[in-house]
Amino acid sequence: MQFVDLPKQYQLYKEEIQERLDAVLTSCRFINGPAVAELEKALSENTGSPYVIACSSGTDALLLGLLALGVKAGDEVLVPDFTFIATAEVVSFLGAVPVFVDVEPDTLNIDPAKVEGRISDRTVGMIPVSLYGQCAEFDELNRIASAHGLWIMEDGAQSYGATYNGRKSCTLTSIATTSFFPAKPLGCYGDGGAIFTDDETISRKLTMLRNHGQAKRYQHSLIGTNGRLDTIQAAVLLAKLAHFDDEVDARNKVAAKYTEFLANRVRTPVVRPQNRSVWAQYTIRTDKRDDVIAHLKTNGIPTAVHYPIPLHQQEAFAKHREPDELFPESLAASKTVVSLPMHPFLSDDEIETVAQHVLAALKQ
Ligand SMILES: *Cc1c(COP(=O)(O)O)cnc(C)c1O
Repeated sequence: MQFVDLPKQYQLYKEEIQERLDAVLTSCRFINGPAVAELEKALSENTGSPYVIACSSGTDALLLGLLALGVKAGDEVLVPDFTFIATAEVVSFLGAVPVFVDVEPDTLNIDPAKVEGRISDRTVGMIPVSLYGQCAEFDELNRIASAHGLWIMEDGAQSYGATYNGRKSCTLTSIATTSFFPAKPLGCYGDGGAIFTDDETISRKLTMLRNHGQAKRYQHSLIGTNGRLDTIQAAVLLAKLAHFDDEVDARNKVAAKYTEFLANRVRTPVVRPQNRSVWAQYTIRTDKRDDVIAHLKTNGIPTAVHYPIPLHQQEAFAKHREPDELFPESLAASKTVVSLPMHPFLSDDEIETVAQHVLAALKQ
């Protein structure tokens, strides 16, 4: 069994993907080819975000976002303690300081009630993550940000396609990012990402920053980087985007089926009423995690742990290590979470098989 069945997806969309790729290969316009702008327009229509800037990865999207926001050495940026390292890494990369915030016990998204206690004179903004495909509490987070004069940027690497009160992820904050890493809900065939904004000035800055700070060739007004999305990746994404809404429906059916089998036996994922998840992961929680992983592995079922070490304990951040007592929920999650195979093509039989093996492992 595949954890994310990309081979199956390719077989299903093969003709459309190959047709799009062939157009790029025939034109040989590998950098800034027409598919890139076409993708940006399609993503803008799909989300309702006025400006979309495609870029080289979800990590670069975050980095470009911070550059556009003017983050500098010494600034503090609030990030959840329980996320993939990229969210915080980009802050440190610019010489700023990631300040970790504990997460909510049920959704594992940044806890709005714990944000204000972490704000200092040096805090400039926050990067809430919409973990596992479910949006964080953006009404409350936006309110806190605006009350303290902070910017807020959603890390929607796992949540492209999710909704919050009927509004799309990546449009809930003035600036937001996503990733098209192959295993994300909308993935390309290599690295890719995008930034979304409703601010025209920021959008113009981002378009320059991702291309060496130039608006015109060899006229560099900003210090930027090579952060462009390959035309080939834009072509793959355009082919896949046509099927994406159906895939999100299918993911929700898979998740509902898992929950049917597993509810009350393990802690199944909690989705708040205002949210619709894209199920980047279907992550359960159990004290018998190691038994579950071992038993599933024996039966040919892959699992993954997102994430085994909270950020405040990562060696890379040892310089400003903070006490475990500040992050009880994040720590508890790191010891109990395990993600099951999740993709739109899981059959009812496969879902039942995975669930039965989870239940069998718990009985041992
Ligand atoms: C995957 C991911 C990223 C980084 O995206 P890449 O495209 O791999 O650089 C950032 N934040 C979160 C929460 C992610 O899951």
